Amino acid sequence: MDPHPEIHRSENQPLAVFVDFDGTITTRDIGDQVVMNFAEPGWDEAIDRYRMGELNVRDLWSFEIGLLRREREAETVAHTIGIAEIREGFAEFIEYSESHGIPVEVVSSGMNFYVDAILDANGFGSLARARPTVEYDEHGFGVMVMAGGLRDCGMTAMCKCDRLWRLRRKGFRVMFVGDGVSDECVVSQADIVLATSSLREICESKGIDHVPFETFHEVLDVVKARGAAASANAG
Ligand SMILES: [Mg+2]
Repeated sequence: MDPHPEIHRSENQPLAVFVDFDGTITTRDIGDQVVMNFAEPGWDEAIDRYRMGELNVRDLWSFEIGLLRREREAETVAHTIGIAEIREGFAEFIEYSESHGIPVEVVSSGMNFYVDAILDANGFGSLARARPTVEYDEHGFGVMVMAGGLRDCGMTAMCKCDRLWRLRRKGFRVMFVGDGVSDECVVSQADIVLATSSLREICESKGIDHVPFETFHEVLDVVKARGAAASANAG
């Protein structure tokens, strides 16, 4: 047994896959839609400040969650289930991973109420997931909480790197699948990166090796190719 599996990674190690939610599992960013349709006024000025570099992802997200109201949560959930479209091939990717014992965890900076509702409504209720929880203060305004041992990240809200390292320390090779700025830290840590949308540009600008994708069929092809080495060696 290798005493330092997190350092000496090889194709013989079992594969684990981490998947972002907004804009990755769903074809568009549901969190953005929640804010635009249900937040109290002020969210657009915060986005301007984010674009000017005055706020980072975590600052922006935390501010916007503070503009959500408890009394609108049920209506918000119903709306997001209605608009969420699951990216093509996701069901096949999950089915293959489950049947081959490859752990998959959804890692999202987006909020529990819509992430959970959309996964459940689309038949993915049993998928492991790590995402912040929205609680409400005494005035009914949202507060972002990291429950269940999740680590708060000062840059991107929920620390995806911490989730990844939990499995890497157990000897897994880790694949990350994502689309945007909340994945910026974790792609520098993953062994295999699949990137779409603005995450491709981030990877290109930082020189991070990645496989571009549009559907989960392409993700599944990589899982089959890279996961097979460990299965063959194990068998
Ligand atoms: Mg995303």
